[in-house]
Amino acid sequence: MPGLLILIGLVVAAVGQRAAIAASGAPHVEWVLSPSSNTVTVRLTPGDGQASGEIVARSHLTVSEAGNGRMRRHSPGGSVVRIHVPPGRQTELLVRVQGPRPFRRTLTVTVPPALRVTASRHSHGGLVISLSSPLRARPELLCGTNNVSFPAPGEVSVAASPHACRASLTVTARNGERAVVPVAIPALPEVPLYSFASPAGGAIYITVDDGWTPSRRVLDIMRQTHVPVTAFLIEQAAQRDLPYWRAFVQAGGTIEDHTASHPDLTKQTLSEATAQWGQARLALGRWFGHAPLMGRPPYGAFDPRVQAAAYWGGLKALVGWSATIDDHDRVRTWDGKGLEPGEIVILHWDPDLDRQFATLLAVIHAEHLHPMPLTLGSFVGIAPQWRSLAGD
Ligand SMILES: [Zn+2]
Repeated sequence: MPGLLILIGLVVAAVGQRAAIAASGAPHVEWVLSPSSNTVTVRLTPGDGQASGEIVARSHLTVSEAGNGRMRRHSPGGSVVRIHVPPGRQTELLVRVQGPRPFRRTLTVTVPPALRVTASRHSHGGLVISLSSPLRARPELLCGTNNVSFPAPGEVSVAASPHACRASLTVTARNGERAVVPVAIPALPEVPLYSFASPAGGAIYITVDDGWTPSRRVLDIMRQTHVPVTAFLIEQAAQRDLPYWRAFVQAGGTIEDHTASHPDLTKQTLSEATAQWGQARLALGRWFGHAPLMGRPPYGAFDPRVQAAAYWGGLKALVGWSATIDDHDRVRTWDGKGLEPGEIVILHWDPDLDRQFATLLAVIHAEHLHPMPLTLGSFVGIAPQWRSLAGD
């Protein structure tokens, strides 16, 4: 994956240091160090005396660095001065008040060191940035997704997003320092979804989903006719009858990934969806000797994040469908026409499967089509589909 570019721009802030120099009755000087900009705001504030407000109104301030007079700022006709102070050191500021009650004060302002990026490294699907001080963990939306996390006190992690984008990540240290880190986030890798496969040789592809109700009859037909069938199995369903599914593989069946527990993956986080694909893939591989390379998203629901999750889960292709058998035992295709070469038919392992399977085979033979094994090679030259499908 291409690197996330990172540059650093620093906006320095600081811990709120506050001081008040009170002089009863007379105006006094208050100051505060801004946490966002390393700016000290010095303010002349009325005291308790009745004339104090009037005195403030007729006074003005001059603030400069003590000793050398640098960084000089005036408040012509006002009682507030803002002055920038450098990060990482202590600065003495001399405040001179001129007017009816002139006086001087020296302020000692300590600004923490600037927050810096010290390192960055790639991680699973994102970037981890190390900074020079412990950070405040604040959730932030980058590129429209909630992909910022804080894995360690001085670290911020930016997960890759479904779409490439550039963003500015603002991080704030516990001491108030702030840094803006521009990040260029690459698009997640995507596994394409296909609803059609190669039509060569009049091919039709039979897929059967879920796995809650295994069928002896289908197994018998497979043994007799060697008709290729791809089962997209839910891990939890497969686990209930491992001997059946081993017999299914022995009979020439292929087992692919239909997730661990059949959630709508578009409603899950990237890591949850990745676990759904990956966990099922590993378990099915362990049980049946072939780790799936194809997956079917439950309900046909997919988006770029689901496709990225499939990538991280180890899959190479997602498989939709273009035809099924309806409740009246009729073939229903995506365009309402007859079954055509290249179509992927979806059925389910449920009590109606025996009848639907027989109906489908009859139609396939009547149309002089040929059930073929569904493999990654079946999708060569086929355009991926981008829209979610309705189904289960
Ligand atoms: Zn399903």
